[in-house]
Amino acid sequence: MFDTHAHLTDPQLLEIESDLLDRATQAGVLGMVAVATDVNSSLACLKMAERHNQVFASVGIHPNDCHLAQATDWGAIQQLAQNPRVVAIGETGLDRHWDISPIELQNEWFDQHIALSFELQKPLIVHMRDCEADILQSFRRNQRDGRILGVMHSFTGTWETAQECLEFGMYISFAGMVTFKNAADLRDVATRVPSDRLLIETDAPYLTPHPHRGKRPNEPAMVRFTADCLAECRGESIEEIQKKTTLNAQRIFQISPSAE
Ligand SMILES: [Zn+2]
Repeated sequence: MFDTHAHLTDPQLLEIESDLLDRATQAGVLGMVAVATDVNSSLACLKMAERHNQVFASVGIHPNDCHLAQATDWGAIQQLAQNPRVVAIGETGLDRHWDISPIELQNEWFDQHIALSFELQKPLIVHMRDCEADILQSFRRNQRDGRILGVMHSFTGTWETAQECLEFGMYISFAGMVTFKNAADLRDVATRVPSDRLLIETDAPYLTPHPHRGKRPNEPAMVRFTADCLAECRGESIEEIQKKTTLNAQRIFQISPSAE
């Protein structure tokens, strides 16, 4: 399996780095993306990717952190993004739920991340919370040849939104939320996503999946609960889901299987 989204440099997880990676390997997690939220975590994610073959890095500024960004931060992100261990740009996107950074500022930063993704041909990791129309508007404004390169992370939107993202060529990643008892609508969306665009993630240390929900911080080994859930709702074997989602992750992040 491949965990496409884990905040591995979160202090809770950094503290247990080697145990966490051992448990991931034992669970069959062959690769993972350490996802950044600001310049410091971008640097930390890259360092972690340089320490471990199975860890790859993203660099970027989270929409809820962009009001804290300094003028020099974008230059630092652009520079870090060049590194071959950096496989994605983000986490970027928009968030109207917390509304911590002004939406205009979030949009400016999102546009910059999208431009960098095209420039380097590295996929975006897109956060979308309570702003499906804004995200689609941004994609329409920034697309090139009708395409946006990237991953809709921890997707919780409608099938209509998923469809439009798929038309731009994006991949849809599901986190532990899809396993929650009250998430029947989301499982319905997950069932409809074409198997060559489907991804799994933990969003660790957040969103611990059922049956561990609320009990402990999430970690990459637990991505298997999401894989199990997708297998069940899609009526496919667990092996099939694990294999397809891993191949999809290797394709979108341009990782050759031997690189892990
Ligand atoms: Zn995240």
